[in-house]
Amino acid sequence: MPPPQSGGTWILDLDGVVWLSDQPIAGSARAVERLRQAGRPVLFATNNADPTIDQLLGRLGRAGIPATVDEIVTSGQASAALLQPGDRALACGGEGLVEALTARGVDVVDRGPADAVVVGMTRAFDYDLLTTAALAVRAGARLIGTNEDPTHPTPAGLFPGSGALIAAVATAAETPAVMAGKPHPPMAALLQARAPVIEWVVGDRPATDGRLARRLGAPFALVLSGVIAADHGPLDVDPDEESPDLGELVSRWIDH
Ligand SMILES: [Mg+2]
Repeated sequence: MPPPQSGGTWILDLDGVVWLSDQPIAGSARAVERLRQAGRPVLFATNNADPTIDQLLGRLGRAGIPATVDEIVTSGQASAALLQPGDRALACGGEGLVEALTARGVDVVDRGPADAVVVGMTRAFDYDLLTTAALAVRAGARLIGTNEDPTHPTPAGLFPGSGALIAAVATAAETPAVMAGKPHPPMAALLQARAPVIEWVVGDRPATDGRLARRLGAPFALVLSGVIAADHGPLDVDPDEESPDLGELVSRWIDH
C-alpha cells in the first residue's frame, strides 16, 4: 500500500462511518474534531445522492459535526460532472440529485427526449418512472447511475440501494449504465481536485471505498461500523487498516 501521507486529507464515507441511517455512530463527532485539531482536512464523500447539501450539513450538525459546503462531495455532483451546462437530463432520484444537476446548469426534465437519464436513490421509484426512464434511454439518452451500491445499512438491516434501481432501468432499456460515484473516475476526479494529498480513505464498503482508495493511490481504512462485520471473510479490496469504528481509527493514528 502507499504509506499514509501524514497531514493529508482524510476522506470519510458517511453511511456506516459517521452514521447508520439516522443514528450517529458513537465517537464519530469527537473523531472528526480530533482530526481537525490535528490539522487534518476532512472531506465527506457519499454515494447517497438523495439528500441536498443543506440536508447533509443539517444531519452532520445534528451528529455534532459542523461542516461546510466545500467539505461534501456526493455521487450526484459526480453524475452532474458527466454532463454539460444546457444538457437535458431526466432525473430519477431525490432532491439532492436534482440540486446537483441544476447547479451544473443542466436542464432537469421529467419526460424524454433527454441527453441523459440519471438514476440515483429515490423512494419514489415505481413502474411508471421505470417506464419513462427506459423509454428515454431507448430513444438515445445516455444512462448514468449515481452509484451501484446494492444496499445501504440501516438499524433494521440492509435496504435496497440505488444500484438496485439502476439495474432495473438498465435491464428494461437493455443498456448498461455509466457509473459516476465511488469508486468510479468522475467521483475520484472531484475528490482529487479538492484533496491533492490524502492520508486515509475511510469507509465501510471495500467494493466502493476500498476501490476508490486504490484509484486515488491512497491507503484504505475499513471500519466495521457499517456493512462489513468483524468476522468477515475475504474482501473485494484488502484494507490497509481495519478498525471497529472511526473513533478507534483516529485514536490509533492521531495522538494528542
Ligand atoms: Mg458506507
